[in-house]
Amino acid sequence: MPEAGRIVYLDHAATTPLDPRVRAALEPWLGERFGNPSSRHPFGVAAAEAVDRARAEFARILAVRPHDVVFTSGATEANHLGVLGQARANKRHGKRVLIGSTEHPSVREAARLLVREGFGVETLPLDAAGGLDLDAATRLLSADVVLVAHMLVSNEFGSVYPSRELARRVRARAPHARLHVDASQALGKLDCAPAELGCDSLAFSAHKLHGPQGVGAFVHVGGTIEPLFVGGGQEHGRRSGTENVAGIVGFAAAARLADAEREDTLRATHAARSAMLARLAEVGAREILPGGRGIDAILAVIVPGIPAEVVMHHLERRGVYASAGAACQSRKNEQSPSFAALGIAPDDARSVLRFSFARTTTREEAEFAAQTLVDVRRELAAVRS
Ligand code: PMP
Repeated sequence: MPEAGRIVYLDHAATTPLDPRVRAALEPWLGERFGNPSSRHPFGVAAAEAVDRARAEFARILAVRPHDVVFTSGATEANHLGVLGQARANKRHGKRVLIGSTEHPSVREAARLLVREGFGVETLPLDAAGGLDLDAATRLLSADVVLVAHMLVSNEFGSVYPSRELARRVRARAPHARLHVDASQALGKLDCAPAELGCDSLAFSAHKLHGPQGVGAFVHVGGTIEPLFVGGGQEHGRRSGTENVAGIVGFAAAARLADAEREDTLRATHAARSAMLARLAEVGAREILPGGRGIDAILAVIVPGIPAEVVMHHLERRGVYASAGAACQSRKNEQSPSFAALGIAPDDARSVLRFSFARTTTREEAEFAAQTLVDVRRELAAVRS
């Protein structure tokens, strides 16, 4: 436990606390209300209706048809449907797959599975600033490309990728390609409607927006997919398995709140980011934002000369919870391939800290975290000198 007894949680890109209103919405489905949505008796019918209402709500937010929404166990599964499900369904047109250079492992590793099936996987090139090199990407596009998958917002840096412009080029040069966008870090911050982005499918995870963990959605507006799970034929045969009713109800409630309160999120995350940025120079830290365009909610910084793990440990003891790179990467205890793709020197890569904010973050919390970082940096410098 931290010495001061106070916790400032700034790791919202890893997960967010459940909104009490979301909890209230889903709780009955963990208690007195239960039923398998496939059952014909009233308990089952009520559960099916709850899932239908959630589907309609989620579809409304993204301006898609309810049928386009496939509830999943999270963005990992949704990315598997986007990558494996679409490439397999589309393979008669060719075997080339293009993915972003800084993808989440759930896209990268799913694409790797395709290699075993005879697909060729290439990465979309980056420009000197670390952004997507649209012209170089365009040169990779041709009629035998069956899938392009990339993230809208980077979980590691907060960078926003030019999805719409990429979509325009994909449509012009790769007419058979399906375009999948991992929008896990974008919902509630940017417009994620497929009509806006020009994509065929999207991946989301509820716990990134104050919803429960273990539920998400694959939104699919164009073409066919090969399911990953077969069995009971739920989700119109696209994802067999008894629906996570409480999770789905909670997810829709969280998405509705994230949509309705987007301005609050933008205001709170902007204030938090500004408060931290204002103090970074004092510790010799610098912001990294590959491509130059990002969301306020994710702030990646390099604190030169000190491994991020060490800074993290000291921050943690004082009650500030952040992240040394992305949570999913830290478990593997290896460096993110994104850092290498971006040409970040290994020493700098070891010194990357990520602070991530949400609509519940206060300016005062960000100021406390910045002051704590300043104190920790000074202390560590004193110990080392
Ligand atoms: N994509 C991105 C960009 C993410 O940040 C995450 C969560 N770290 C995922 C996919 C996977 O989400 P989940 O672990 O909830 O399946």
